[in-house]
Amino acid sequence: MAETDTTEADLAEPVPCTRCSAATTLVHIVGNCADCLADMGLHHPEQLAEFKRQVLAKYGSGSA
Ligand SMILES: [Zn+2]
Repeated sequence: MAETDTTEADLAEPVPCTRCSAATTLVHIVGNCADCLADMGLHHPEQLAEFKRQVLAKYGSGSA
């Protein structure tokens, strides 16, 4: 919800979700749509952990 401080140019790219291949969503972070992030948080904590590693790899650990 509050993850809006990342690079806007990257987040603005019309990229479909790499996890569920859903239609392009306005809300996606590192290739994952908000629905998938919620699903990972609820049912697939190991996938969420992997996602977080990708976020750190992509944006670094400067913020938060
Ligand atoms: Zn998705």
